[in-house]
Amino acid sequence: MSLTSCKQIIPLMLPILAKVVFGTSQRMTNRTNIGEWTDIRLPDALHPVHYIIKLQPFLDGRNDSFHGQLEVELEVAKPTSRIILNLADITIKNNTVKVSTLNKRRRLNPIRQQKYDPIREMFMVQLRRRLRQGKAYLLSMQFYGKLSDTSQGLYITSYKDYNGTERKVVATQFWPADARRAFPCFDEPSMKATFDIHLARERHMTAISNMPLITTTPVPGQQGWVWDHFATTVNMSTYLVAFVISEYKFRDQEGQGKGRLKVWTREDKLDQTELALEVGAFALSFYEDYFNIPYPLRKMDMVGLPETTFLAMENWGLVTYRESGLLSDTETSSASHRNLVSELVAHELAHQWFGNLVTFKWWNDLWLNEGFATYMATVAIDKKEPEWGILDKFVVSRLQSVMALDALKSSHPISGPLENPADIDEVFDEIPYSKGASVIRMMRHFLTEDTFKKGLSSYLSSM
Ligand SMILES: [Zn+2]
Repeated sequence: MSLTSCKQIIPLMLPILAKVVFGTSQRMTNRTNIGEWTDIRLPDALHPVHYIIKLQPFLDGRNDSFHGQLEVELEVAKPTSRIILNLADITIKNNTVKVSTLNKRRRLNPIRQQKYDPIREMFMVQLRRRLRQGKAYLLSMQFYGKLSDTSQGLYITSYKDYNGTERKVVATQFWPADARRAFPCFDEPSMKATFDIHLARERHMTAISNMPLITTTPVPGQQGWVWDHFATTVNMSTYLVAFVISEYKFRDQEGQGKGRLKVWTREDKLDQTELALEVGAFALSFYEDYFNIPYPLRKMDMVGLPETTFLAMENWGLVTYRESGLLSDTETSSASHRNLVSELVAHELAHQWFGNLVTFKWWNDLWLNEGFATYMATVAIDKKEPEWGILDKFVVSRLQSVMALDALKSSHPISGPLENPADIDEVFDEIPYSKGASVIRMMRHFLTEDTFKKGLSSYLSSM
């Protein structure tokens, strides 16, 4: 994740009270405590194993809304008769919440009660029968919501094409805890699972997601609409799930779409993708070699989005950028802008290992993502463009500049207590990025590069 300044995260982090309206005939109450569960974190009795998510965003004529269906396979770590998961700004359709065993008989477990806690954005299903330890169950439901216009959750944005016609784009931004605004989920970084994503789109648009497209089928009864079915993801955190539905075109290095790296943007800006492609291809190969661990996905899409409140987001296999952070005009871009695009692309691609492959358990250890991504981007770009002297400038650009911030009374440790992801803006500043990267740089120097590389490889492959 990259933000140009701390101010930009504030709109993302404002506590938003859910507007969930449950029209179910089952008993439903809204209160601040879910049963006796008062923790901001989810209970550890259940673990999600696999999600099947079907989403249909409507861009015109239906108030920019979306409809969705969820099936999530659950593993029971401790016997429990309640399921608690995260949900915000979503309406569950009448009588669609079902819990059943995962065996052939699919025996339904009747629901005693459903509750929603808008403060902690948690939804609880109280069951009549206990879920048994070691067994697997299926939770399913249908829901709908409104597309956001604030680069948060499942959101809508737009741009004017070369004719001045407005074109709409649906995109996602789930970091740090906004996947729950697109589909009900166990929205904590350590609750990793695999995902089957299915997206409905109008025929003239294109959908991309974390994984490659497998097949496209018509939406029954809806003329002009199709379902795109994507390959099952690797095991991953909810905040890294992503998709973009747009009329964008792409470029890749080999041409004809055969390369693993593609850069997507509006058609009239395709000629500004050259630098991002060049840096992206270099960085992916450089990291594979440096960490001695191959990039685990078959493809990497990088997309330039209009008017985002964030600068870039490292979603696995589908990195999203503000247009100005990804695109660069070979004729007119300044040296400093080329530097920014290069470092940013290298930073986001370093996250494919630091953050995506190996993820902190909780947000207080954000520096393990941001410190390593910041430092490794510097190492990669120094290798690609040695005459820029980017490693030499590190002391001035990162170490000394963060010392000024760290000298303030309001500074904080690179890893400290953090209960609620909504409070993350309090620690999400240059400390995890630049102080984190400075500590890692020291490690590299006292360990020597060889030992440092071996250590990283072992750290990344032991997860
Ligand atoms: Zn980052």
